[in-house]
Parts: sequence; structure tokens; C-alpha cells
Amino acid sequence: MYIVLGLLIAVAVILIVKPWHRRACRWREDRRALADGRVLHRCVACGAEIALPRGRTPQTCRAGRADR
Ligand SMILES: [Zn+2]
Repeated sequence: MYIVLGLLIAVAVILIVKPWHRRACRWREDRRALADGRVLHRCVACGAEIALPRGRTPQTCRAGRADR
């Protein structure tokens, strides 16, 4: 009985915390994409794309927030 209860709590915690949204993106630079000084970064984990000035790298994962 306690095993089932523990399992339910674990599932609930995972659904609330959503650790896959906090996992760092695996960004790849695509220097060919933009010619105005910015570099396009594409995440191979979630498919998000973001353009940043040269020399900067994305710090956050945008999984599930592609509409922003
Ligand atoms: Zn990502």
C-alpha cells in the first residue's frame, strides 16, 4: 500500500516539477543562417530557435515555450 502511495507522490512531483523543461538545451550554432551580425542557435533537443549577438549563447531551454 505504501509503495503505491509513494509511486503516486513521485509521479505527482515529476508532473509538477517537469524536469525535462529545466534540462539545458543542446544548442548548435548555425553561422550561415544570419548575415546581420547575429548567430542563429538551434536546439537539437526541442527544436527551438533563437538569434543572439555573436559571442553569446542561450542559457535556457525553450521546450514547451516555442510560442514566445
Ligand atoms: Zn531545447
